[in-house]
Amino acid sequence: MTTHTEVLVLGGGSTGCGIVRDLAMRGLDVTLVERGNLTEGTTGRMHGLLHSGGRYAVSDQASAIECIEENEILREIAGHCVEETGGLFVQRPEDSDDYFREKLEGCRECDIPARVLSGREAREVEPYLADDVKRAIEVPDAAVDPFRLCVANAIDAETHGARIETHAEVVDLLRDGDGIHGVKVRHTSGPGKRTHAVAGTTEEITADYVVNATGAWAGQIGDMADLEIAVRPSKGVMTIMNVRQVDTVINRCRPKGDADIIVPHETTAILGTTDEEVSDPDDYPEEQWEVDQMIDTLSELVPILSEARTIRSFWGVRPLYEPPGTGTTDPTDITRDFFLLDHADRDGVSGMSSIVGGKLTTYRAMAEEIADHVCDKLGVRASCATADEPLPGSESIETLEAGMDDFGLRSPVARRSKQRLGSRASEVLDTDAANPVVCQCEGVTRAEIQDAISQSGTDLNAVRIRTRASMGNCQGGFCCQNMSNELHPEYDEETVRAALDELFQERWKGERHALWGEQLSQAMLNYALHATTMNRDRDPASESSDLEYAAFDGGQRAAEPRADGGN
Ligand SMILES: Cc1cc2nc3c(=O)[nH]c(=O)nc-3n(C[C@H](O)[C@H](O)[C@H](O)COP(=O)(O)OP(=O)(O)OC[C@H]3O[C@@H](n4cnc5c(N)ncnc54)[C@H](O)[C@@H]3O)c2cc1C
Repeated sequence: MTTHTEVLVLGGGSTGCGIVRDLAMRGLDVTLVERGNLTEGTTGRMHGLLHSGGRYAVSDQASAIECIEENEILREIAGHCVEETGGLFVQRPEDSDDYFREKLEGCRECDIPARVLSGREAREVEPYLADDVKRAIEVPDAAVDPFRLCVANAIDAETHGARIETHAEVVDLLRDGDGIHGVKVRHTSGPGKRTHAVAGTTEEITADYVVNATGAWAGQIGDMADLEIAVRPSKGVMTIMNVRQVDTVINRCRPKGDADIIVPHETTAILGTTDEEVSDPDDYPEEQWEVDQMIDTLSELVPILSEARTIRSFWGVRPLYEPPGTGTTDPTDITRDFFLLDHADRDGVSGMSSIVGGKLTTYRAMAEEIADHVCDKLGVRASCATADEPLPGSESIETLEAGMDDFGLRSPVARRSKQRLGSRASEVLDTDAANPVVCQCEGVTRAEIQDAISQSGTDLNAVRIRTRASMGNCQGGFCCQNMSNELHPEYDEETVRAALDELFQERWKGERHALWGEQLSQAMLNYALHATTMNRDRDPASESSDLEYAAFDGGQRAAEPRADGGN
């Protein structure tokens, strides 16, 4: 099959989703292809910090300025994806006074609102900070939900006529001499409600212009056309704590280092991270020492972390880019800036540009820059509107808050539902049916689960990332089965069981790295619950061979007489 589009975007992370929205809003005919589901790559495996820019205020002021500008824009256009936690750069006794001063000056030079708090004032904001914390700089860091952000961009792009094709892996670039004019994708089947092409089939998508936004995988796309794109993938671990030990983003006020940020995220706190170069973004070791380092080092800032329970750990790979000739050996020194590589100018190959590097915080600016570039190439004059047009569900924070009383939303559950749904809250929560809580840890009600099922069908992982159900303390132990029950009776029993299995396996994947002490007990409890109450370890319904039901009819079987006649 061959199809044609004006612009083809490769990769469905924050960058690709931002680009497809931007171009579709400018009136172009755009298609996005992603090999997995949206956020399958780095975007679904990051720390969740909406940078104020404070982190880069000493080392990289251009990035810092870009961060504060985008931080302010995202609060406006994506209020329902951002939690205004605020942030602190905390100084311990052994951390340098000079660096503290440089950080403060750097913030001021970059127009990042910054205020110094004494140790006592900082502990008033965050009571669990260590007693010996000397002082802190307060900045407008925030927490951001990458899943909702990407989905909102993709929905808006589709509303503006874009085609979003997930589970479509680019397996080759279509190259004619010195020009790229499309790609060949292989379709796989994806879970959920979207209609996918037949699994195993291939499609050639020709395009007037191709944008490679595949992040850490951009080099692999380049290889398909003999283009050298020097991405330097760098892995980082994040460890999720059982509760929210802090309500503010806590940064260590010292020059670059591992394990120096804690981000409060929904009901949890996420500790991170490391920075270690890897050769293959799909295959790298996930090591225990990395997790231990998170807890040991960050407990110096927040001591109760050492006694708290971790619930899972996960790793992501940064799509860092090093311009040719730089030769940096330390990955922490590679710039966090983003780069637009026009392969016509750079390599003499027309029809495609790549966008690499950057941060989730700057995804919209990256999209704007490359969309300007594409429009330039295609002679389109439309300008960018993404900094002003709110994303679906986020017309304004005020709307969100003013609506709090609409449904008697005073309980934490209702407040959180409302925050997750943004301006769609009335549409989803205004139901005559009973609306019990399905996931107790995250306070997700049936109405939200049903709404997510109506969008994504049997893909319970998509339901999870839309609602957060199964992402809390029990990691799905108590709610996976409740979530799958919500698929019945619309879907048949076999489909519901398969969806439950897939969700539970996905939860288990990240728990493996947290199995010690009380977390091990929790995992065993989950296993026992699922094994004993639902026979998930030996479920007759999933056995292929027929059961010998006749054996049950005979009642208790008499013991076989032993050959030796003994007892
Ligand atoms: C440990 C860690 C912590 C981070 N923390 C933060 C933070 O707190 N704040 C912040 O602002 N930034 C953070 N970042 C950076 C941020 O996550 C990334 O810069 C951003 O998510 C990159 O998005 P992307 O769309 O460019 O890449 P990705 O999200 O990786 O998207 C690329 C997509 O391309 C797809 N793809 C690959 N090959 C193919 C193919 N052949 N065909 C089709 N599709 C393909 C992939 O599946 C993937 O979904 C962090 C990164 C890491 C690793």
